[in-house]
Amino acid sequence: MALALTSGLLLAKPNIVILATGGTIAGSSESSTNSSYAAGVVGVDRLIAAVPEIKDIANIKGKQVSNIGSQDMNDAIWLKLAKEVDTLLKQKDVDGIVITHGTDTMEETAYFLDLVVHTKKPIVLVGAMRNASSMSSDGALNLYNAVSVAANKQSYKKGVLVVMNDEIHAAREATKTDTTSLNTFASPNAGKLGTVYYGKVNYYMQSLRKHTYESDFNIEDIKTLPRVDIIYAHPNDTSDLLETAVKNGSKAIVLAGMGDGNAYPSVLKAMAEAVKKGVIVVRGSRTGSGYVVRNEEVNDDKYGFLTSDNLNVQKARVLLQVALTKTSDKEKIKEYFNEY
Ligand code: GLU
Repeated sequence: MALALTSGLLLAKPNIVILATGGTIAGSSESSTNSSYAAGVVGVDRLIAAVPEIKDIANIKGKQVSNIGSQDMNDAIWLKLAKEVDTLLKQKDVDGIVITHGTDTMEETAYFLDLVVHTKKPIVLVGAMRNASSMSSDGALNLYNAVSVAANKQSYKKGVLVVMNDEIHAAREATKTDTTSLNTFASPNAGKLGTVYYGKVNYYMQSLRKHTYESDFNIEDIKTLPRVDIIYAHPNDTSDLLETAVKNGSKAIVLAGMGDGNAYPSVLKAMAEAVKKGVIVVRGSRTGSGYVVRNEEVNDDKYGFLTSDNLNVQKARVLLQVALTKTSDKEKIKEYFNEY
């Protein structure tokens, strides 16, 4: 472990591994003002070389896991990434992980890792909204801040974190809220955990839900993930999409319901039919925040539906995929929705 002289004290620098998966942070365009660009073309070595200041904070190693736009993320890369993170963090000489990732599905990957990697060490996801060649690109400072958060002792036992635009968010809460703004990540239900300003970390909140080291799920036991679909609700809906999903082997359905998780009558009927076929059906909301109230507008107990608590539908999908690797017992999965 290398030593650094800070304020007259000899301090050991933490060892941080940067795992690169792609995204805009690894994107490049032909000119600094061209908004169209290719995501996931810059390799991890160039990403690290572009921000030499991170070597003042930590000993850095890099590894390329994938190089994709995160809309191309899939279960196979998730499993590979989670196993890589798990293996690295079990090593005594690794103190934290930073994962560079596209912003589109960063929230899902963050929550997946939050559920399956058993560690108290920091895992930080980071991305950028402006590619590396853009004027005023946000990638370099975001990466600097992410390494600062991963290297900070206060980040232990906080679960997986998302660092973007000077903010620190919990994996369970973070969501992309704007297609292009630098200020796209928010935690609508709970607020951000803290801030990171040019590397200076301040925490104000902590998640009370189970994650990482206290999780019932473990990547060591997970070989594949089941199919879970999200069905988006709207007025004058049909049950076609839901029925097709069930016919094609969906093990669980998340309804992105209107308001408090509501479905058009024909869809409600198809949801009840799906439950009878053994499919787990979870009512979530397309509103983007708030918790779905059980047995109020819809008689969940009568139909056998679960509700998403206040997870957004994409995170409810992740929890279902992970939960179904352990059990298909509806009551147990209902408990998981209250705990995670
Ligand atoms: N769609 C791309 C992705 O998610 C670009 C978005 C981004 O990284 O900001 O990887």
